[in-house]
Amino acid sequence: MRVLVVNAGSSSLKCQLIETDGKVSLMRCLAEKVGTPDAFMNVSFAPDFQKMRYNVAGLSVPECLEKLLDVMVDDPESPISGLEQIEAVGNRIVAGGEYFSKAALIDDAAWEKLKLCEDLAPLHNPPADACIAMMRQMMPETPQVAVFDTAFHTTMPPKSYLYPLSMEYYEKYRIRRYGAHGTSHRYAAQQAANLLGRPLRDLGLITCHLGNGGSITAVNHGKSIDTTMGFTPLEGLMMGTRSGSIDPAIITYIMRREGISFDEMDSILNRESGILGVSGLSADMRDVLEAADKGNERAELAIDMYVYRIQKAIGSYYAAMTRTDAVVMTAGIGENSAELRERIFDGLAHMGMILDKKRNDVTGQIGVNRVISIDDSPIRICVVTTDEEMRIARETDDLVSQMH
Ligand code: AMP
Repeated sequence: MRVLVVNAGSSSLKCQLIETDGKVSLMRCLAEKVGTPDAFMNVSFAPDFQKMRYNVAGLSVPECLEKLLDVMVDDPESPISGLEQIEAVGNRIVAGGEYFSKAALIDDAAWEKLKLCEDLAPLHNPPADACIAMMRQMMPETPQVAVFDTAFHTTMPPKSYLYPLSMEYYEKYRIRRYGAHGTSHRYAAQQAANLLGRPLRDLGLITCHLGNGGSITAVNHGKSIDTTMGFTPLEGLMMGTRSGSIDPAIITYIMRREGISFDEMDSILNRESGILGVSGLSADMRDVLEAADKGNERAELAIDMYVYRIQKAIGSYYAAMTRTDAVVMTAGIGENSAELRERIFDGLAHMGMILDKKRNDVTGQIGVNRVISIDDSPIRICVVTTDEEMRIARETDDLVSQMH
């Protein structure tokens, strides 16, 4: 099935046209800085994926998508010549609240519920919904599917998802932990089960999505029972620019002392903290590792803190589960940084997670799913490549195929 995967952010748009039968990508698109005068959109087609750059200054996220659909129909390199050749659309939706425990076909009833979720991710859900509304008009016969970042975590029990606040806030505003990166955690868990040659339902896994954003999930018998992100993706690990969990009293303290607004504080926590805030250099782990290598103390401190918080989260999920068979590393840092993996697992050998330094080496291994622990490590350590778009395409295909 030919599925257009649409991943709309607050100022970005990532799309792929995927042929699910052969698991191949036919078109890739990335628009960034949308809404600013520097906005641009790169589009490329199989087989050589030569990028064409379009100026999309002044366009909104759904307008960029409209432009992409025009390019896909008009460009002679494009694998399609009419929108009807797109058999389904898979839309990544950040927040599905308590309404969606799995991917959903967007009919009128699902659309009503989707609109109710906008408040839960005010930066991400509204542009995604606007794209869906536009496509429902432009290609009314094409099934639209919503695949949610939160859906995988709807299996968390109340003791994990509730905050120890007055229940009034849960009842009035549904303030609870929803988690995120669910598509990636689900995929990583399944890939690890394949690697270990055992059914997912028999395994206890700790999946670590370590990219620019980061979260760790306890996956017991295939179900998420706890995850580090919460009501929003701000909770949990230290990330590229997000602080992760801090004492909430710090927020009001800084706001009073600095006389700043809610929006300014929000920006400090989401955009100016984490690895960027501590290193004072960059949110990009490669830059920070390089600076630390050259002796930059703040870069070294940022890495130390980053590693320590991951170790504590892994330890707490080891305690939360009745058994742990494997820890699974995925996303930009988890997949590619042998150095970071070594630092993380150096501190966890006493829990039975013993890295094989040779297997951990990345040379010639990028993109290869593999076990990187020693043979008799009581708990295995796996690396798997996340492919969010492919996963969304597969879920879309599964749902649409059931309709026929
Ligand atoms: P993602 O959000 O999954 O694309 O991951 C982005 C993060 O992965 C950035 O912090 C990158 O610096 C980091 N990353 C990618 N490749 C490497 C690498 N070889 N070593 C260390 N960090 C990397």
